[in-house]
Amino acid sequence: MNALSAVAPATIHSRFRYRCSQCDKIHHGLPDVCFPTPDCVRDLPQKKFDESCLISEDVCIVDGNSYYIYCVLEVPVVDYPDRFGWGVWCQTSWTPFKMYWESLSVSRSDRLPVAGARLSNDLAHMPSTTGTRCEIHFRKNGARPVVKLPPSKHRLYNIQQHGLSVDQAVAQAQSVGTLLLVA
Ligand SMILES: [Zn+2]
Repeated sequence: MNALSAVAPATIHSRFRYRCSQCDKIHHGLPDVCFPTPDCVRDLPQKKFDESCLISEDVCIVDGNSYYIYCVLEVPVVDYPDRFGWGVWCQTSWTPFKMYWESLSVSRSDRLPVAGARLSNDLAHMPSTTGTRCEIHFRKNGARPVVKLPPSKHRLYNIQQHGLSVDQAVAQAQSVGTLLLVA
């Protein structure tokens, strides 16, 4: 048996702390890895970015004809009480984008049908995930939509089914330079 699974879940949970980029406080657990933009516009010079990209916390339009929704991709962590999450952009078509955008002001997005999409960020420590086929599942009360991968041979599909190890989750969190203190 590995050492971690012999420890009570509450003890494992308390091993991790990080400084929150939103509120600057120290939180327990593992931080979500959040991508601020779709990768295709990440490295644009500021002027070009401002010209081509219309972006909010929830949606993004690039060049007036590419539509992105900000979602959370959640996976289990083996022998850990919490899930691990990535904040990722997913490119979808105009119709679901428009319906979601319009639903934001009335918090009725749970009534939207599942939308086909493609991941628009490369997650660390795995084969490229940009362009990977996915589904956007909308939730109620304005909760961030959830991404699910349909069955495929991609490692990310396997991770979504079976989870990350604690070490892999820590590596993911550290890949974006999040300060992670292990007590
Ligand atoms: Zn916070």
